[in-house]
Amino acid sequence: MEETQLQKEKEDPPKPTSKRKLLGKSLLGVFLLILLAIPLIPRLYDRISNDSISRGPYLISEEARALHRSLFVADLHSDALLWNRNLLERNSYGHVDIPRLIEGGVALQGFTIVTKSPTASGYVGHDNPVDVMIRGLVMTSFWPIRTWNSLLERALYQCERLHEAERDSGGTFRVILAKEDLTSYIKEKLVDRKQVAGYLGIEGAHCLEGKIENIDRLFREGVRMMAPTHFFDTELGGSAHGKSQKGLTDFGKECIQRMEELGILLDLSHASRKMIEESLEIATKPVVFSHTGVRGAFDSDRNIDDQFLEKIRENGGVIGIGFWKEAVGAADVASIVKSIRYVATRAGVDHVGLGSDFDGSVITPFDSSGMGLLTEGLLEDGFTRDEIEKIMGRNVLRVLLQSLPSKETVSE
Ligand SMILES: [Zn+2]
Repeated sequence: MEETQLQKEKEDPPKPTSKRKLLGKSLLGVFLLILLAIPLIPRLYDRISNDSISRGPYLISEEARALHRSLFVADLHSDALLWNRNLLERNSYGHVDIPRLIEGGVALQGFTIVTKSPTASGYVGHDNPVDVMIRGLVMTSFWPIRTWNSLLERALYQCERLHEAERDSGGTFRVILAKEDLTSYIKEKLVDRKQVAGYLGIEGAHCLEGKIENIDRLFREGVRMMAPTHFFDTELGGSAHGKSQKGLTDFGKECIQRMEELGILLDLSHASRKMIEESLEIATKPVVFSHTGVRGAFDSDRNIDDQFLEKIRENGGVIGIGFWKEAVGAADVASIVKSIRYVATRAGVDHVGLGSDFDGSVITPFDSSGMGLLTEGLLEDGFTRDEIEKIMGRNVLRVLLQSLPSKETVSE
């Protein structure tokens, strides 16, 4: 039988095409598997990098609950738009979505837009990085092709996402564009607690792609806060984590002037010391640090020096205290409260607010539904009711009302 088989094979050798077909099928299978796994990559990344120490439900004292319910809570910074979570649904991971903001008694959330990040971690010595991280995230999240190679398009797309959430929310969520939007919302919120509002910010003006007219473009799409730099130096000047540590360029000065004219709040988070100094010299309106820590409470490369606390008081601005370890020393309520107390003592209680950095690839003690824990922490630390009202939101409201454009300007 063996002989017959060998003979047969000699006469009729197996066709190479059938082997090739088999190989082709296997490769196709592997390719399909990879294709199916792609959407899981950003989701997994989101889950791991935007985790919380506790997932809730969050229990707070009756006294803190009652006080928290009466507050207008405003948080200056969340990168929720970078992730593919549906903001209108309650998600089991990440930090921010509309249902959890309502549960946490948050009235106003800053939605900040990230368009490019370095691959290396840490807070010092970053070059303008190769565009791998956010481009990879954008591509695996199946964002429109126009966003793959353009930082401006990435920013515009995230603006669209927030407006879309407003449209689909059935009136639960609104985007604040003008002073009048905010004042009428404050009144309505007193009657209906189950509403939430947001505003758009930019984290790193590299997305202007060096063109001042793109400030106007982003303003038309709803942007009302902008940080000149993120993790690396930009056309506007030096980042706190960049190589040059330089101040504002002439282009940066022009940009700040245009932002003030339009009604875009200047955010000095991630700016170099020199840029902070120079910006505070030329700013004619209050500025914010949308998410930071302070070196006096916790000495870290991410945090700002004491010298700026006095200057922020003179400027009338607000320092938004972050909720993560590198900003306050530990991802817990006591550490956040300690940094808030430090700013309140040195700069004054009118100049401190919340800058969670929710969904900014940081681990926080709680997600946005646990914001009441902070009211409890402030109460326990001995802050008065009036002081807690300011810290939890009223200070942020003040600077926004001083910076936002009027309805008339927006609809022009
Ligand atoms: Zn940041």
